[in-house]
Amino acid sequence: MHFCPECTSSLTQRMIGGAERTVCTAKGCRFIHWNNPTPVVAGIVKLGDEYILARNAAWPEYIYSMITGFLEAGEEPDIAIMRETQEELGLIAEEAKFIGHFIHAKRNQLLIAYLVKAHGTITLNEELTDYKLLTRDELEIYNFEPLKLTATIVKQALLQDVI
Ligand SMILES: [Zn+2]
Repeated sequence: MHFCPECTSSLTQRMIGGAERTVCTAKGCRFIHWNNPTPVVAGIVKLGDEYILARNAAWPEYIYSMITGFLEAGEEPDIAIMRETQEELGLIAEEAKFIGHFIHAKRNQLLIAYLVKAHGTITLNEELTDYKLLTRDELEIYNFEPLKLTATIVKQALLQDVI
């Protein structure tokens, strides 16, 4: 952000409420960029006894991860991840079990993670270019490097996926 979105004046840094914020320099403009985290839903999708990892078109070739997406205005997060499962993988989501919430500090996001049970035939949308179906044993030892947060979330999901 280079200019104030309220008045187009230049911006500067100032300590407010114990943290350095980007604020407007114009007299009379009270714009403060709070930089609050963006909520993002994340899903480890389970199809039968297998777990789906997908590769985003924007990622390097070797990186496979959970599916993620933004919430629509007013949308419940469990509904959002079920919708993303349908949109990105072409699967019908039956239920979304809350795994936990996780801070992605680098991207300033709050990840709301779910284990999603789904059925159907995988049909990737344009955001994804490939997927892997892994057994529980395979997922337990899967190397998510350099995605440390994904590894943490998957570990939590497996701990809670006990039937
Ligand atoms: Zn301003």
